[in-house]
Amino acid sequence: MPEGKIIKALSGFYYIETEDTIVACRGRGNFRNKKITPLVGDEAVYSVEKSGEGYLLEIKDRKNELVRPPIANVDQAILVFSAVEPNFSPNLLDRFLVLIEFNEIKPLIVITKIDLCNETQLQSVLEYVDYYRQIGYEVCLTSSKTEEGLEKVLPHLADKISVFAGQSGVGKSTLLNAINPELDLKTGIISTHLGRGKHTTRHVELIKIGEGLVADTPGFSSLEFIDIEAEDLSYCFIEMREKSQECKFRGCTHLKEPKCAVKEAVENGEITTERYNHYVSFIEEIRDRKPRY
Ligand code: GDP
Ligand code: ZN
Repeated sequence: MPEGKIIKALSGFYYIETEDTIVACRGRGNFRNKKITPLVGDEAVYSVEKSGEGYLLEIKDRKNELVRPPIANVDQAILVFSAVEPNFSPNLLDRFLVLIEFNEIKPLIVITKIDLCNETQLQSVLEYVDYYRQIGYEVCLTSSKTEEGLEKVLPHLADKISVFAGQSGVGKSTLLNAINPELDLKTGIISTHLGRGKHTTRHVELIKIGEGLVADTPGFSSLEFIDIEAEDLSYCFIEMREKSQECKFRGCTHLKEPKCAVKEAVENGEITTERYNHYVSFIEEIRDRKPRY
């Protein structure tokens, strides 16, 4: 039986990409008994009848599953932040990073609009970029206007399913159109969906850009730490992950405990005070969260 990736779901049809064509399939098969709703991004087994109609038979196990937009097997989240207009927000970036680390998705940070920066603004952004790179993140600095740095973004898309995320107005759709000039002609979907920053969940599609697939709807529209517990949080700050193993107390929350390796790292400058402060404020937010039941 042939297998392929669902790249679009619409009106009861699942569109599966094969090497040379796209097959429209209706659902039929054991995933129905298991109450699985096929998602864009799913790897599926399907069959094509003599009549030419396609049928979805089986959904392979998923690596992960996003709720908004509904996509399975997301490899990468591209976090788009403008250097200015709106100003770069480290707090919002750390919030995105926590959610993405928690979901075991690889982040790529893309800073846009560097053409609009004055010297001081650029210096300040570069300091942040240095730190994020130092702790292990990939960061691309770009301008869709001058096209600076765009060539560095495209290779990161290859062989992955990526979801773009970021505030409205930071330049997501401009960036996508800039790295792939044919996109406008081929689809026109990205510019409308991403541009409006709509959180519609009814229709999602994966669009081929270079060698990769990109969701046409931005992800992580809800930035609340719904499923994250306070104990999970230091895992989501990558530079705290290993450090927290060295704390004297097991389950150390790195707030008031003595002999805390994380706080020591903050004191000696290995971890920035700003990231630590975000950690503290996120923990407070999680603790103040109303119980759901
Ligand atoms: P989105 O809401 O994140 O999709 O943002 P848009 O792509 O719609 O961009 C918002 C505004 O920023 C538009 O007016 C773009 O022309 C502008 N813009 C986007 N990227 C850049 C850039 O790199 N440099 C400059 N100067 N303007 C940009
Ligand atoms: Zn600690």
